[in-house]
Amino acid sequence: MIKKTNLPASSVVNIEKTPDLNTDLNTQLNAEPNSANETQVSEAQAKLDLQFMRRAFELAQQAEQHDEIPVGAVVVHQGKIIGEGFNQSIMLNDPSSHAEMNAIRQAGQHLNNYRLLDCTLYVTLEPCPMCAGLLVHSRIERLVYAANDLKTGAAGSAFNLVNNEQLNHQIQVYAHVMQTECSQLLSAFFKRRRQEKKATKKRLRDTIKNSGTDH
Ligand SMILES: [Zn+2]
Repeated sequence: MIKKTNLPASSVVNIEKTPDLNTDLNTQLNAEPNSANETQVSEAQAKLDLQFMRRAFELAQQAEQHDEIPVGAVVVHQGKIIGEGFNQSIMLNDPSSHAEMNAIRQAGQHLNNYRLLDCTLYVTLEPCPMCAGLLVHSRIERLVYAANDLKTGAAGSAFNLVNNEQLNHQIQVYAHVMQTECSQLLSAFFKRRRQEKKATKKRLRDTIKNSGTDH
């Protein structure tokens, strides 16, 4: 489990509760290593991980352009990207349309197989329980993610579904690749959404106030 109390204040980004957003979006990010699951990698592997996470980050930016929560994911097989995805839940009216879900669906089509053997999933935010379950079902070998999600992350932060002995598949985890960039993208997005919400409320209050003076 992550010990929140030992974190320096500067490394923690609190995303305040936004009741108008789905509760699983109330994300809290930090820089603490997820020691429960994390594996070590070689320098060469770390370079590859960075390269693929950059692409996941670009996809997260695409999500933001559509006003979706900025999370992006890629699936890599034998050194090549075979699936890409970003959050599309709002635009598709589909709560399952998370970045990981979309990337894995595309990868399955590419491999013509419902098992994604010898594949790595890169994602800019720690997977939620739904996506962690999907990773187990798909038999993904390795998960690389950027930012922790302390509230709903299912790779060790809030739950540990990717390395659960009661399930029939366990996944190697490597965390915090491009953590700062991916956390900042999410924090900035939620900040903007809160400001927009505040502005809308103010406009509504002003409208009511002005209509009151007419009588
Ligand atoms: Zn998810």
